[in-house]
Amino acid sequence: MLSSKAARKYDYDLIIVGTGPAGLGAAFHLSASLPSLSILMIDRERYCSGGLLNDCKQNYTYPIGFNDGIWTREEAERLLQIVEQHLQPVIKPKQNISIYQNRARRLGVSLLDVRQAHVGTDRSKHLIHKLRSELEQRGVRFMLEQEVTDIINCTDGVKVVVASGKTLNCSKVITAPGRKGFEFLQKVMERMGIAFIDNEVDIGIRIETRQENYQIVADYYDPKFMFPDKVRTFCTNSGHARVVLEQYQGFSLVNGHSLSEKNAGNGLVNFALLKTIGLKNPVRSGQQMAVFLARLANEIGGGRPIMQRVGDFRMGKRSNSENFNEDLFSFEPTCRVTAGDLGLAVPAKIMRHIWNALKKLDNIVPGVLHPSTIMYYPEIKMYANKPAFIDTYFRVSENVYMIGDGAGTSRGITGAWASGIRAAEGILLNR
Ligand SMILES: Cc1cc2nc3c(=O)[nH]c(=O)nc-3n(C[C@H](O)[C@H](O)[C@H](O)COP(=O)(O)OP(=O)(O)OC[C@H]3O[C@@H](n4cnc5c(N)ncnc54)[C@H](O)[C@@H]3O)c2cc1C
Repeated sequence: MLSSKAARKYDYDLIIVGTGPAGLGAAFHLSASLPSLSILMIDRERYCSGGLLNDCKQNYTYPIGFNDGIWTREEAERLLQIVEQHLQPVIKPKQNISIYQNRARRLGVSLLDVRQAHVGTDRSKHLIHKLRSELEQRGVRFMLEQEVTDIINCTDGVKVVVASGKTLNCSKVITAPGRKGFEFLQKVMERMGIAFIDNEVDIGIRIETRQENYQIVADYYDPKFMFPDKVRTFCTNSGHARVVLEQYQGFSLVNGHSLSEKNAGNGLVNFALLKTIGLKNPVRSGQQMAVFLARLANEIGGGRPIMQRVGDFRMGKRSNSENFNEDLFSFEPTCRVTAGDLGLAVPAKIMRHIWNALKKLDNIVPGVLHPSTIMYYPEIKMYANKPAFIDTYFRVSENVYMIGDGAGTSRGITGAWASGIRAAEGILLNR
C-alpha cells in the first residue's frame, strides 16, 4: 500500500530511478493524480533530463518509438495524446509525401507518414527546465549526481541503495535507467530473480551527406523508411546537424543530433540505417553480440568508431585520412573518427542488408549514394534483456516496475514517456 506523506514509514512513497522521459512521464502522471504522494527522482547525472536533451525529435504516430510486442495501437495512441499535452509539440508540416511513397512502394519499401516535432538540442534545455520546475512545484524531489547501485525487495516495500552507501526505503520503485543503464538493469534482474528474455538489438551505420544529396528533408524532417530484411531509417537530423559519439564502458558508438532552426545550418544531414536482430536459440544474448561487435569496431578503429566514404566502399578499398581532406571531397566529417574499412568490422549479412537498403533509398531520394557520403559505424541500440512483466503495467515484482528504452518498453522520447504513464496507471491501480 502507498502511504500518504503523513505516515512516515518510508522515506518516500515512490522512488523513480532515472529522470529521462520515461521517469518524467511517470512523475507527471502520479503527481497530478495523487498530489499527496511523496516522490523522489534519482539520477546519476548532474542534470535532470536523460535523453530528452538529445535533439528532442518527437514522434506521435504508432508504431514509431513503441515495441509492438507489448503495445497495441489503441493503447499507444491513447497515451500519446497525454504525452502531447505535456510536451506541447509544434508539429512540422510535410509535403510531397505521396511522391516518395509511390517510388518506395515500387521497390518494396514503405514510407510512414509520421506526425513529428523537433525542438533541437539547444532549445530542449529550456523545455527540461520548465518540466523540472513544474514537478518541483508539485512537490516532487530530485536527487542528482547519485548513482543507484541496487534495488532490494523487502516484505513491505523496497530499499534503494545509492553509491554513497545510503539506503532509502519506499513503497514502490520505478526503474527507468535508459539504454546506458542496461548493465544496471541486468544486474538488478539477476539479483532479484526476475525472469528475462533476450531482447532485440538494432545494429547499423550512420550516414552523413550534404543536404542537396538527401533533399527529402526539406519535405519531411525525419523520414521513416522501412526496407526489407528489418532495415529502417532512424533519427534523421538536418539544419545544423552533427554526428556525435556516445561513450560506453570500453567503446564508443555514433549517434546524431541537430540544433534548433534558429541556428544557421551547416548544409549537412545525418541519419541512421539500422537492422533489427533478434537472436533465437541456441545463441542467447543479442546484447552480448552487440557489445562484442562494438568492441571489435573500436579495436579496428584504434579505440574509436570507423568512417568510410561511399566512393571507397564501392571500390572495395579502405578510406584513409587523404579521403577526408577538403581538397578531395566536398565536406568535412562532423565527427572525426578513424578512416577505415567497414567491410572488416560489420558482419557480412548486416552490411549486405544495409547496402541493399541504401541502393533502394538512392532510387527513392536520388543522390544519397554520392561518393562523398560518409558511412559511420557502429551505431547500435542496446537494450537490457526484456524483463518478464507480471502485468501489463510493466511490473516485475510486487512493488517494482521497469520501463523505458533500457527495459525495452520504448525506443524514443514519446514512447518512453508513454511507458511512464502506463507504469503510473499500474501504481494507481495497485495501491
Ligand atoms: C544523441 C542522441 C540523439 C537522440 N535523439 C532522439 C530524438 O531526436 N528523438 C527521440 O525520440 N529519441 C532520441 N534519442 C533516444 C532518446 O534519447 C531515448 O529514446 C529516450 O531518452 C529514452 O528514455 P528513457 O527515459 O528510457 O531513458 P534515458 O532518457 O536514457 O534516461 C535514463 C536516465 O537514467 C539515469 N540512470 C541510468 N542508470 C542510473 C543509475 N544506476 N542510477 C541513477 N540514474 C541512472 C541516466 O543518467 C539517465 O538520465 C536520442 C538518443 C541519443 C543518444
